[in-house]
Amino acid sequence: MTPPFNPVTAQIIDHLRQIVGAENLSTAQADIDLHARDQSQHRASPAEVVVWPAAPQHVADTLKLANEHRLPVTPWGVGTGLEGSSIPLFGGILLSFERMNQIVELHADDFQVTVQPGIGHKDLNAQLARHGLFFPPDPGANATVGGMLANNAAGIRTVRYGASKDNVLRMQVALADGRLIHVGSRSVKQSAGYDLLHLFVGSEGTLGIITEATLKLIPVPEHMSAVVAAFPTVKAAVETVVAVRGSGLDPAALEFIDAAHCRMLSSAEGVDLTENPTLFMEFHAAQQSTLSAGLEIVRQICEEMGALNFRATTDTAERKRLWHARHHSYEIMVRMHPDKQFFINDVAVPISAYPELIGFVEQIRAERNIPSTMIGHAGDGNIHVEFPFANDAEYQQAMDANGAIVLKALELGGTSTGEHGVGIGKAKYMPVEHGPALDVMRSIKQTLDPNGILNPGKIFPG
Ligand SMILES: Cc1cc2nc3c(=O)[nH]c(=O)nc-3n(C[C@H](O)[C@H](O)[C@H](O)COP(=O)(O)OP(=O)(O)OC[C@H]3O[C@@H](n4cnc5c(N)ncnc54)[C@H](O)[C@@H]3O)c2cc1C
Repeated sequence: MTPPFNPVTAQIIDHLRQIVGAENLSTAQADIDLHARDQSQHRASPAEVVVWPAAPQHVADTLKLANEHRLPVTPWGVGTGLEGSSIPLFGGILLSFERMNQIVELHADDFQVTVQPGIGHKDLNAQLARHGLFFPPDPGANATVGGMLANNAAGIRTVRYGASKDNVLRMQVALADGRLIHVGSRSVKQSAGYDLLHLFVGSEGTLGIITEATLKLIPVPEHMSAVVAAFPTVKAAVETVVAVRGSGLDPAALEFIDAAHCRMLSSAEGVDLTENPTLFMEFHAAQQSTLSAGLEIVRQICEEMGALNFRATTDTAERKRLWHARHHSYEIMVRMHPDKQFFINDVAVPISAYPELIGFVEQIRAERNIPSTMIGHAGDGNIHVEFPFANDAEYQQAMDANGAIVLKALELGGTSTGEHGVGIGKAKYMPVEHGPALDVMRSIKQTLDPNGILNPGKIFPG
């Protein structure tokens, strides 16, 4: 059922101008189009007005107005989402955080930083580097902190440092009725009442809008090493993942890259990879001797698991080249297949079930003869199966395969989305993943946003 929203009238635009200033609002077609879809395959849907708040009070006042007039509001970080979660499905107001992109305060002695939500995590880390600190969650794209917290984004370093939810202490949130509240605290230990902080994290802008966040930081490790190991089969590679995790070593990254991706990365980025299922790993330590001892154990594990080759490097340039290639694997794939679009699947399971999940993906691909590639944050039990498509029939085939993989992940005790969030695409799996708990989520939504103005059409099916 379509929620009973009202159109954005000239009077509303005038009111918004008074809130944010004329320079922070646009109804120009180019601005509407730029914010009509994210990086997913989901169809574009235009907002009626784009608003760039410059302060938390702008956000709160905009929400108050929208709530009174029943106008949908969709927050927007930088639109790198892969499940359509920032697409303004019902038009209304698109609230873009591109102009709230500053560090508010660095608390270096506490290893914390308070930021505005529109700062890109790469830009943040570039500024933190001179203080010897970094914010570890690392999705490949230069996503904003607000978008990452809203999606509970993760990435290559999650296996050691956790996802976005594990690296936030306190947030300021604007509620649908225009109240500005603080949730959480700057204390690392917190035990005071309901954990509202983590209620808003991962809520995809459907419960409130993040206007400020205090993040945990990590000192940049003294010693780092990258490891590349290639295997004869996918099975050997993913079983090595389980063995490395079980060894007690604490990798800072543990990524699975299939043979097709290795071929693409070698030819596009010049990295030295054989065309085999491969693991990229990274290890961090305070002392060189600890790092060397750990690397020796990893070498032994890889050799026992039948690795075809094994390379460890502490050379910073080589390490950065490898991770640059890994981070750009999606863009490289898209560039090399200009006639195709890609649907990116994202499921995660407990680590012991990872080989079974990957075996199932291989079986589905073979049985249904579906072209696809795989890349994954294997250390977290997370895989992305990438399906190319050029027409409706191929897209449908990809959707069917995705559905089978999602159900298998759930059967194995996992989740329909490890890090990309629910958005539009995963909403239909919420009843099977959550059962009656989905009704509790609906009650929370109803309490915090009774008029349903916040990012409508996301998370809940129908
Ligand atoms: C090449 C590529 C690689 C990627 N790799 C990864 C990966 O490894 N791991 C991973 O987790 N993701 C990955 N992603 C997905 C994407 O980067 C993440 O989902 C990210 O969190 C989106 O951030 P964004 O700033 O682009 O937000 P958007 O896409 O603009 O928005 C995401 C969600 O956040 C909401 N939102 C934005 N700002 C706020 C706010 N201030 N308050 C409340 N809600 C808000 C939006 O409404 C939407 O629901 C990748 C994407 C691409 C294109």
